[in-house]
Amino acid sequence: MPNRIHLSIAHLSGKETKYIQEAFDTNWVTTAGANLDAFEKDLETFLNPARSRESEKCCALALNSGTAAIHLALILLGVERGDEVICQSFTYTASTNPVYYLGAKPVFVDSEPDTWNMSPDFLEQAIQDRIKETGKKPKAIIAVHLYGMPAEMDGILQIAEKYEIPVLEDAAEALGSMYKGIHCGTFGEIAALSFNGNKIITTSGGGALLSKNEEYVRQARFLATQARDLAPHYQHSHVGYNYRMSNVLAGIGRGQMEVLSQRVAQRRKNNQFYRKHLSGMEGITFQTEPSSDFFSNYWLTALRVDPAKTGGVTREDLRLALEAANIESRPLWKPMHLQPVFADCPYCGDGTSDGLFENGLCLPSASLLTERDLGRVVEVIGCELRTKS
Ligand SMILES: *Cc1c(COP(=O)(O)O)cnc(C)c1O
Repeated sequence: MPNRIHLSIAHLSGKETKYIQEAFDTNWVTTAGANLDAFEKDLETFLNPARSRESEKCCALALNSGTAAIHLALILLGVERGDEVICQSFTYTASTNPVYYLGAKPVFVDSEPDTWNMSPDFLEQAIQDRIKETGKKPKAIIAVHLYGMPAEMDGILQIAEKYEIPVLEDAAEALGSMYKGIHCGTFGEIAALSFNGNKIITTSGGGALLSKNEEYVRQARFLATQARDLAPHYQHSHVGYNYRMSNVLAGIGRGQMEVLSQRVAQRRKNNQFYRKHLSGMEGITFQTEPSSDFFSNYWLTALRVDPAKTGGVTREDLRLALEAANIESRPLWKPMHLQPVFADCPYCGDGTSDGLFENGLCLPSASLLTERDLGRVVEVIGCELRTKS
């Protein structure tokens, strides 16, 4: 059996151990220390344009997961029991779960066919529907840049502004992606990043909350460290959380930040390779930047298989053929409005994400894949398409 080709795995630079060692040498091994400060600074330097004014700069707070960042962001945006929160339906469940943690209810909005992300039209329709039905505006809008593809941010922000509802940007998959030359993660009132093991860079597990509003970041730091009042005797006026990142893991993040741009280039190169060899095949279409306004980190290369044009070959045929060759691929995320756990939540859309789920496949996209690995993937897919057609 040839070596296993993975969908997306950690790709360390070798620089991480130096920073981890520093944490050990100085005995800063818990949730404060130089690595945390420097990692947050690295993120801010990467995300903020070089000449941006102080008041327009995004601040970063390192946390122990992206899910924690979304949870804290919803608290800061005032989401409470009984509220409704609009959420892109086509996403990973971690975008939505924190809405439930707060006793609020998600309202799912479908994707549009270009970016596969939130449709601004269905967003507006959902807001109007909810106001009509409940007499109350949804408290927040969770927009996602899925697989690294920036969402139609102009359209989404315009509607958010019109109805005065804050946008929480789930940029967990989109570090390094840009919309109109501006980094994903800097558009929303608050944004979340993830450094889970399968993301474009990792801290083994971790996340970050981003905001231009320093007060949000200050409050998030307070809540993430058990919400201790300024008193020597551990007094608490708020319910807190244990969500801060460890200084040891922030050391991994510092090493990873040194190669982030390289990682983006490598993932984009994977994408180009697949496009070059598979675009010509009947019935195969890729998730594609709709115009030069969009720059995806192509965290995962995702495609659609149209069985009507492939002579009946489905995405599941391709997935099984790849698996038989010891290659990991994965169906696209099952939309939240189709998930049993969220079955009773409102949904607004036309089934675009249902179709993506039914016919979509993510190809191996790790940044450490070689051209030989990618060649094996293309070979298996080509072979499967040719035998059936
Ligand atoms: C990974 C991911 C998250 C959650 O991040 P964790 O660090 O795993 O908690 C949230 N949203 C999306 C879209 C993700 O892909």
